[in-house]
Amino acid sequence: MASKQHESLAMRIRSVPHRATCAIPGCGRPTMAAAGTGLADCHCQYHVQRRARYGSHWAAPLKATDLKPYLKAAHRWIAEHRNDIAVTYPLIGLQGLMDGAGQVERAQDIKRLPAAKRARVAFARLREAGVKPERLLAIHMAVAALIEDDRDSHNVPEFRLVQTAKAVHRLASGTHSRWEVALPNGTTAPLAIHNYPRSSGQVLRVMGRELDEICRGVMQDALDTVRRLRVEMFGPHPSQRPDWLPRHTRVRLGLEK
Ligand SMILES: [Zn+2]
Repeated sequence: MASKQHESLAMRIRSVPHRATCAIPGCGRPTMAAAGTGLADCHCQYHVQRRARYGSHWAAPLKATDLKPYLKAAHRWIAEHRNDIAVTYPLIGLQGLMDGAGQVERAQDIKRLPAAKRARVAFARLREAGVKPERLLAIHMAVAALIEDDRDSHNVPEFRLVQTAKAVHRLASGTHSRWEVALPNGTTAPLAIHNYPRSSGQVLRVMGRELDEICRGVMQDALDTVRRLRVEMFGPHPSQRPDWLPRHTRVRLGLEK
């Protein structure tokens, strides 16, 4: 049965009209369809996996240091509007998302569960870590504002949702076990094992969509204000300055790898 399925997939792959090489400039690898390894007709395996992981075939994932000024701006905006219904409503929703997420399960036990279930465990873990809904809302706003400002970024919903979920996931994603281990000389030494669920693929899209459904309304009103606050507090994003060069030019000039 398995080999029949395999054969029919191989036939489908062969019959897909496809490009010979990956559409990402400078890549040059064969597309998955050309290589016979998958149905992707425009991209190579490396770039397909990159999109699963980051939400974009080509954009670099957002750095915590780049997100920081936007997080500060978003927290300030949230504090100033804490009593507006437009803010209290999503905050209640985010708290409900964490409260209703059920039990925390160990990272090593959830590897094979469906994405929706793993997303629930991730939200439950945030609750157990004492993460406040304000923090989730601020991340959602900060990611959107940074992507809007950063001219090297990929301004599409998929990248925004995946990057939001990744930043949220980082707040509390692992299972940490600690022991005191007896040593032969009679003393003990601490031993820690950290297990992290893989932050990739479908679970990030599920988390991103759930957060977005709750926070979307606020963002439409506040995005420009958060971007303006960032300029007031920290100056403009580097890519908004007149001497800025796009990433592909920086790479060509050897200014960046
Ligand atoms: Zn490629």
